[in-house]
Amino acid sequence: MPRAYVAFGGNVGDARDTIRRAIDAFCDGAHVTLLARSSDYRTPPWGVTDQAPFINACIAVETRLAPRDLLVRAQEVERSFGRDRQRETRWGPRTLDIDILSYGDAVIDDPMLTLPHPRLFERAFVLVPLVEIAPDATIGGRSLREALERVDRTGIEKLA
Ligand code: ATP
Ligand code: CA
Ligand code: CA
Repeated sequence: MPRAYVAFGGNVGDARDTIRRAIDAFCDGAHVTLLARSSDYRTPPWGVTDQAPFINACIAVETRLAPRDLLVRAQEVERSFGRDRQRETRWGPRTLDIDILSYGDAVIDDPMLTLPHPRLFERAFVLVPLVEIAPDATIGGRSLREALERVDRTGIEKLA
C-alpha cells in the first residue's frame, strides 16, 4: 500500500487538541492507517509573521485512497474542525491546516494537488517533525535530514 507523509498545523483555539482529534479522524484505520506520529512542536509563524505561534506535527500513513481522494479527506477533516477558506488570508491564522507532503513516489503538477508539496523543503516547521518520524527518508530524491540542516530552526520548540 502507498505510504504518504502528511503535515498538520493550526494556531486558532486549542491547536494541540484540534490536531490530536484531527489525526484520529483522518486515520480511520480502514482507508488511512497511521504508521507514525511526531511530537507536537510550537513554531514561529511563517510567511505572515504577525500572528500567534503555530502548533505543527507530521504523520506517516498507509492508504488505499488515491492521492486526490486523500486530499479530499484532508479537506473534509479541516472543515469539520472549523476551517473556513472564505474567511481567511493566505498563510494567516487557521484552526487546522492539513497538507499532503508526499505520496509514494507520485509527482503531480496540478494547483489542486502538487506532489511533493512545493514548499516542504523551505520549512523548518515541516522538516523538524518529519525528520523526527522519518530520519532516513528521501522525498523526490532529496534527503530530509540534509534539507533540515539548510533551514533556520530558530524558535521551534518540541512540546512534551
Ligand atoms: P501552503 O500550500 O503554502 O502550505 P496553505 O496550506 O495555507 O499554503 P491552503 O489555503 O490550505 O494553503 O490550500 C490552498 C490549495 O492548495 C488547496 O485548495 C489545495 O487544493 C492546494 N494544494 C496543492 N497541493 C497540495 C498539497 N500537496 N496538500 C494540500 N493542499 C494542496
Ligand atoms: Ca500549509
Ligand atoms: Ca493547506
